[in-house]
Amino acid sequence: MANNEELFKKIISHAKEYGFIFPSSEIYDGMAAVYDYGQWGVELKNNIRSYWWKAMTQLHENIVGIDSAIFMHPTIWKASGHVDAFNDPLIDNKDSKKRYRADVLIEDHIAKIEDKINKEIEKAAKRFGESFNKEQFVTTNPRVLENLSKINDINAVYSSAMQANDLAAIKKLIEDLGIVCPISGTKNWTDVRQFNLMFSTKVGSVSEEADTIYLRPETAQGIFVNYLNVQKTGRMKIPFGIAQTGKAFRNEIVARQFIFRMREFEQMEMQYFVRPGEELKWFEYWKNERIKWHLSLGIASDKYRFHDHEKLAHYANAATDIEFNFPFGFKELEGIHSRTDFDLKRHQEFSGKKLQYFDPDINESYVPYVIETSIGLDRMFLAVFSNAYCEEILEDGSQRTVLRLPNILAPVKAAVLPLVKKDGMPEKAREIMNKLKYDFNLIYEEKDAIGKRYRRQDAIGTPYCITVDSQTLEDDSITVRERNTMQQERIPLSNIATYLQEHINHLTL
Ligand code: ATP
Repeated sequence: MANNEELFKKIISHAKEYGFIFPSSEIYDGMAAVYDYGQWGVELKNNIRSYWWKAMTQLHENIVGIDSAIFMHPTIWKASGHVDAFNDPLIDNKDSKKRYRADVLIEDHIAKIEDKINKEIEKAAKRFGESFNKEQFVTTNPRVLENLSKINDINAVYSSAMQANDLAAIKKLIEDLGIVCPISGTKNWTDVRQFNLMFSTKVGSVSEEADTIYLRPETAQGIFVNYLNVQKTGRMKIPFGIAQTGKAFRNEIVARQFIFRMREFEQMEMQYFVRPGEELKWFEYWKNERIKWHLSLGIASDKYRFHDHEKLAHYANAATDIEFNFPFGFKELEGIHSRTDFDLKRHQEFSGKKLQYFDPDINESYVPYVIETSIGLDRMFLAVFSNAYCEEILEDGSQRTVLRLPNILAPVKAAVLPLVKKDGMPEKAREIMNKLKYDFNLIYEEKDAIGKRYRRQDAIGTPYCITVDSQTLEDDSITVRERNTMQQERIPLSNIATYLQEHINHLTL
């Protein structure tokens, strides 16, 4: 654990030191849970967004994109349920004055008991070696059984309190479990209160007459309220999808873990409209499509796992998370939900407008069911970035930090480097830049020794370094150095564009 914390700190400081992510408003001491993307961060983020966008729209004939406004009619958030129910239960410790999410305190407590069970299993597995039968151990070991029954008891009280919105019962559970504040170490808790996560603001110039509007907490509603516009103008036939990327805002109470949980973040969402009764088939289809997309980046498959929801939101009839093994453990990266016809029906009710689709294949009108895939762009950035970060000791004993980013996502595809700053090498390198810059994002560097320049490119994840040396001037050949292996090969200059085309992996699903 300590090691991973250490690693996570290094990743955060690398992101800052190399121009990927800066704390927002840093010269004014920053703002909690808000971050700015720097010169390489924005490139990486754009590349991830476009990798998602292409996979969704270009590779699916029946999916189109939109870009809806952040401001929307306030009734949308009543219809969607966000005004009444987009809440987190919060609790304060009176001694440390620190604020927590009551549900997270309870879930962390359960996770600790689960850890104990896992430790027992690990110990036993070591003790029994080959003959270890996990199933049998878990169903018979008294300590494991006792802990499992503790978890069941807590879950029973917890879920009935959450479902009944019984805040007093949640507080009592925290007290009964003896949960203490990690800062003060005391159990001196306030009552639990509901806290709405939406940011509100006023539209219009006179505040008394003004209407309260909200900064959207998800991009999905912009798709729902436009679904008929797109269906009619695009002559879309069900099943079809609408994709959108854009900012979302949530007043997260406990904002931690760098860009994992932010107050202003970006989502990439797709709603897939299907015939009622066929939604579970499409839910499986999208689970499969989405994990294929993740794995197409070449990230190890054991970094991902599905976490199916047992307790479903009242409007969902299936839901799963794709979790990623971040430096702080497996956490939600993407949600895939079968949302039934809940949202469209509610918008129909609140707007008084019919949102039905006429299905010519069965000669019937209905409100479509919806499968949603929803991924946080910033969380995907963190997944890709932390997975790529690598410290290596080289054969000569020196150290390098390298970002082994998938080539297709790397901010810069190649650096063009004259070996020395004389003898016509810079001019030749500039010539190469001018030829390639229309097709590839390149960097030109002539300062410092070549080894140092290679290291700088490793640190920002540039997959190729193209070096111009004295031989280049004689026979028009250049060396290409590959980031991961550090192998160099000499190729004719005339082949370089094709070489890069071939080596920068393309999107295939
Ligand atoms: P969590 O349980 O982590 O708060 P959620 O279940 O509320 O997430 P959804 O409402 O399903 O999240 O949002 C879809 C996706 O948006 C998430 O899978 C995540 O990648 C991203 N996301 C949600 N909240 C944040 C946030 N505060 N900062 C960054 N990304 C977020």
